[in-house]
Amino acid sequence: MADGWLKMLQVREINFSYAEPVLKDISFDVSGGELLAVIGPNGSGKSTLLKIIIRALSPASGAVSLDGRNIASLSRRDVARLMGYVAQQSTVRFPLTAMEFVLQGRFAQGRMVGFESETDVRQAAWAMEVTETSEFACRLIGELSGGERQRAVLARAIASRPRLLVLDEPVANLDISHQVKMLDLVKRLTAEGEMSALVVTHELNLAAEFATHVLMLKSGEMRGFGSPGEVLTESRLSDLFDADLLVDVNPVSGAPRITLTAKKRERGSGGAGERGSRGAGEP
Ligand code: ADP
Repeated sequence: MADGWLKMLQVREINFSYAEPVLKDISFDVSGGELLAVIGPNGSGKSTLLKIIIRALSPASGAVSLDGRNIASLSRRDVARLMGYVAQQSTVRFPLTAMEFVLQGRFAQGRMVGFESETDVRQAAWAMEVTETSEFACRLIGELSGGERQRAVLARAIASRPRLLVLDEPVANLDISHQVKMLDLVKRLTAEGEMSALVVTHELNLAAEFATHVLMLKSGEMRGFGSPGEVLTESRLSDLFDADLLVDVNPVSGAPRITLTAKKRERGSGGAGERGSRGAGEP
């Protein structure tokens, strides 16, 4: 199989500035079926990176390719079709039913609600089925609970059968059970390999459980990239967030388990240890 096929998303030496540099030499790959969690403190450039990947922003230098094609050369319609984006806060201004809302995800195919084709309806119905939103297809989106609405937002994002699903803090307002369900769903959607996902999240334990890879960002720089077991170590996480974090192994899943500790970390004398963490070598 050609390398270009395996590497569904290629991010190469991305630099971006507003007034100050926000992203510095960011390079990584995401293959089919992978779920990449992007973690880092507030203001580290996570949302900006996502906006560059969905082409809402243009980098000062560097390139993003999807399936071997530079996204700068794609039509707007192709970008919308190939990438499903869930923004940090999805506001719905119009009184749409969940079905109409999910059908909006088919607009990228060039039609409007009321002019949808049989394929549009079939694909929207598929998206609602896999996200378990069919049961409230006829209810107004504004009247759904947070968890239900977030699943409908995901349904809209996958209705165009994108190659890449890009989610900016998709579980931020959900209770713990709905957070797990949401990430589990994204994981199942990507597991077959036709779609990959990039998820910005502050939920480190969910990233540890569900992500195949983790990208660490701080001050616009990459501070780590690898499997959760490789990068979610005590020293790296404590440095990333400037907080005292304990990492051991989740006894059920075997994934790293991150716990916040109130104890002041001793700096300069070995810093945080790697107690219990399964960390591999630093880059
Ligand atoms: P994160 O998602 O990790 O919180 P962002 O990508 O939102 O980080 O922001 C990275 C940096 O860019 C921050 O310092 C932020 O203040 C700055 N920034 C974000 N958006 C803008 C903007 N529209 N104009 C100017 N600066 C911005």
